Amino acid sequence: MSAFELSRLQLHTLRGRLALWFVVLAMLTLLCVGLYVGKLATMQRAASAGQTLHAAATAAAQLLGANLRERELDIALLGQELHVTRGPLNHPDLLKSLQLRRESRSELVWLGLADAEGKVIQAIDDLLVGQSVAARPWFIAGKERVFTGDVHEAVLLAKLLPAAAPGEPVRFIDFAAPIRAPDGQLLGVVGAHASWSWVTHTVQEAIQKAGSDVEVLILDRQGAVLFPEAMLQEAKRPTTASPPPAFSTVTWEDGRDYLTSEVAVDAKTPNDLGWRIVVRQPLDEALAPARALRDRLIVLGFIAALGFGLLALPLAHTVSRPIEQLAATAQQIEQRSSQPTAPVRTRLREVQQLDQSIQSMTRSLLAREQELETLNQTLEQQVTQRTQALETANQELERLATHDALTGLYNRRHCDDRLAECIAAGLRTGRPFGMFILDADHFKQINDRFGHATGDLVLQQVAEILRSQVRQTDLAARYGGEEFVVVLPLNHDAEGVAQVAEKVRAAIEAAEFSDVGKVTVSIGTCVWEPPNNSVAGLVHQADLALYRAKALGRNRVEATAPTA
Ligand code: GH3
Ligand code: MG
Ligand code: MG
Repeated sequence: MSAFELSRLQLHTLRGRLALWFVVLAMLTLLCVGLYVGKLATMQRAASAGQTLHAAATAAAQLLGANLRERELDIALLGQELHVTRGPLNHPDLLKSLQLRRESRSELVWLGLADAEGKVIQAIDDLLVGQSVAARPWFIAGKERVFTGDVHEAVLLAKLLPAAAPGEPVRFIDFAAPIRAPDGQLLGVVGAHASWSWVTHTVQEAIQKAGSDVEVLILDRQGAVLFPEAMLQEAKRPTTASPPPAFSTVTWEDGRDYLTSEVAVDAKTPNDLGWRIVVRQPLDEALAPARALRDRLIVLGFIAALGFGLLALPLAHTVSRPIEQLAATAQQIEQRSSQPTAPVRTRLREVQQLDQSIQSMTRSLLAREQELETLNQTLEQQVTQRTQALETANQELERLATHDALTGLYNRRHCDDRLAECIAAGLRTGRPFGMFILDADHFKQINDRFGHATGDLVLQQVAEILRSQVRQTDLAARYGGEEFVVVLPLNHDAEGVAQVAEKVRAAIEAAEFSDVGKVTVSIGTCVWEPPNNSVAGLVHQADLALYRAKALGRNRVEATAPTA
């Protein structure tokens, strides 16, 4: 799965996480089931294959045992047949009898009679007739009893018989029985060599049904391999337990594990050879069907898990959708959106309750927010109104602090401040400036004659004339009672100051005051020059000039004599 597809699954979301959990859980469950069932199937398969092997080994052992017993009996009976025991051994009927036996037992490659000294008297196909078998084990044993011998390579017959397969030695098992005259005297020995391939075919046929990959081995009493030829050189396999288990898993000399079953061949005669039939099947092949089943289960499990994953996606969506909607609602609330949110569609009771709680919480929050907003607006309005009122009051205070209430001119304090500023500027620039003090003449009399209120009106009219006569850059102030000061920052010499003062004096003299008629004023002018730095000193100088104007007859302008 590419990174793009993974990111599309959005593993950090509830939906993606749920789907992933479904897939992982399904995979784990199905993997466990697959492994467990595979294990069970393997065990059952091992048991059933083992039983099959054991049955095949038992069948082979029983068949071989019965066949050996039959051949042994055959030879024993031949030795006891009347016409044999009556002799002589070279009687032609005996050869006929041998030939009849041979016809019914094709595995007998040699069947013959030897006399008591070991000389072969008669034999099928005349093989070995006249030769001595006195040293052969079958003859030695056959003189005493019925004998069945272990497999051996042909000694005397090796050159007379064709090989079983090219390069393969001729191998036989021997049967022998004594021929005794009715009086018990040993006349000779009847002997037979059965081809080894008869034995091997017998066991191979018996195990054929067990399967193509099943092999059969014949071991002798000591555990040496008698068959197959390819394994003759293998180490002996001693019997481990008696009775051996029906089957077991054994690591053989080739390093492979084989399911192995071992059964003893019991011929039920005194000549029991002690052979064992071992049947084996490679464990891998014995368990192959079970392992294939397990592999199929695991593959099916993975496919089923992927199918679950695909089914889980819409299922996870069903579970996660209401929660995603709740998250979206919560986000809207966080962003202060007043849009009403649609109710979450779900059958999960807890999510329904949560949704209802969020909805009602949202409504009350929105209501509270609106209340707060209204309150806020009211408060803001009040603050604006109060601020404006305060500003107006401040402006009024400022005006009251700097202006005279009766005339509207600047007051004495502001006039002093302005004079100080002009002195400071003059000290910096070195430039002089002018000012004068104006005092109404005989004002007390006006008051006395026309009343204080009329006096006030006169003062207001004087102020009005002052305002109209001086320039914007000049400053007119009521300095106290019926005294006024005019500051002329741009008039630098005494003449200029005197001209302004004169103009003011003349304007007042020319004016008509209601009720009062004519009013005159006296003016004392002064020009400030460095290094004088005192406001009081400056005003005092102007005052001196004013006194002089009063003293000289009033209604006139007097300048301060320049101080040295
Ligand atoms: P002079 O020519 O020497 O200046 O004579 P005068 O009468 O003007 O002098 P004085 O200083 O003796 O009198 C000033 C008078 O001004 C006294 C006072 O009653 C009057 N006055 C002072 N302030 C006011 C005011 O605000 N209103 C009125 N109506 N009269 C005032
Ligand atoms: Mg006065
Ligand atoms: Mg006066």
